[in-house]
Amino acid sequence: LRAVKLQNGKLEFDADSPEPTVPVGSVRVRVLQAGICETDLQLVAGYMGFEGVLGHEFVGIAESGRFVGQRVVGEINCVCNDCDRCRNGHGNHCPNRTVIGILNHDGAFADYVVVPEANLHVVPDAISDDEATLVEPIAAALRIPEQVDLYPGMRCVVVGDGRLGNLCAQTLLHAKCEVTVVGKHADKLKTFQRMGIQTCLLADKEAILPAQLAVDCAGSSSGLQTAISLVQPLGTVVMKTTVVEEHSLALAPIVIDEIQVVGSRCGPFDKAIQSLLERQFQLNDFVSGRYPIEQFGAAFAHAKEKNALKLILKL
Ligand SMILES: [Zn+2]
Ligand SMILES: [Zn+2]
Repeated sequence: LRAVKLQNGKLEFDADSPEPTVPVGSVRVRVLQAGICETDLQLVAGYMGFEGVLGHEFVGIAESGRFVGQRVVGEINCVCNDCDRCRNGHGNHCPNRTVIGILNHDGAFADYVVVPEANLHVVPDAISDDEATLVEPIAAALRIPEQVDLYPGMRCVVVGDGRLGNLCAQTLLHAKCEVTVVGKHADKLKTFQRMGIQTCLLADKEAILPAQLAVDCAGSSSGLQTAISLVQPLGTVVMKTTVVEEHSLALAPIVIDEIQVVGSRCGPFDKAIQSLLERQFQLNDFVSGRYPIEQFGAAFAHAKEKNALKLILKL
C-alpha cells in the first residue's frame, strides 16, 4: 500500500506500506484524497515530534461499520471515552487521545486511514470531494463562534492571508462582523477584496483601528504579537497558529490592556458540513493544485509558495 511517511524529519514515499490493523470500534477508510495543511508543514519542521503517516484532512469511503460504502470525513481526535474530560463532553482534550496524522496515529496520506467509527461523518452528495476535504479546517474556523460571542458590526482583524486565515475571515464575515485581513501578499489579499473583505498590508497595519477581536492565523511566531498590537483594551485575541518555534514577545500589553487570549483548535464537523450545504463559504479559488500521492514532494513545495492555498493529494 502507498503512504507518505515522516521519518527522521524527512518525508518519504513508501510504496510497500503494510496493511493497517483495525482495532474494535474503528473503521478502515479508503482515502479518496487528502489536503495539505500548515500543520503538516510544521510537523515536517519538527512540531510535536511526530513520526508516521502524515495527513489529517481527508475524504474517503468507509469499508465497514454503519457507514459502509458511504463517503465519509473523520474527526481527528481519537479519544478514550472513559476519562473525566471525555465524560464531560471535552473529548478533544482527552489526555489519552491520539490525533490522526499528528499524534501517535497514522494519517491519511495513504491508501487507507483507520478511524474510530464514532469520529466519522457521512458526506452528503451535494458536497464535492474538494469541499469535503475542507471540512476539517472549516470546522476549526467554526470553533471561533463557539468560544467568542460574535455580533454584527464587531470590529475584527485576521492576521494571516493563508488557508486558515481565509476560512476564519469568512466565518467572521458570515457573522456580519466588520473584517479586515492583514497579510504580506498583495496578490492573496485581492482574493479577500473580491469577497467584500477589507484588507491591509502588514507594513501598513498602523492604519487599522484597534479591533474588538483579533485572530492570529499567521502561521509564524510573529503573528501573535501583531494580533495583540491590533486589539483594543478589553478586546480578545484568538490564537489559531501552531508553530514549532517558541514565541518571544512582550506580555505586559495583555495585562495593561486586559486582553483575553483564547487558544482555539478543533471545531464542530456537523456545523462545517451544514455550512457547506448552505454554501456559506466561497471556495471557488480555494484549491491551488492536485497531485497524485507519488508527487507529494512537488505538492509540498507548491503548498509553501506565497500564493498557494489548499493543495490536494489524490489516492
Ligand atoms: Zn489541518
Ligand atoms: Zn478520554
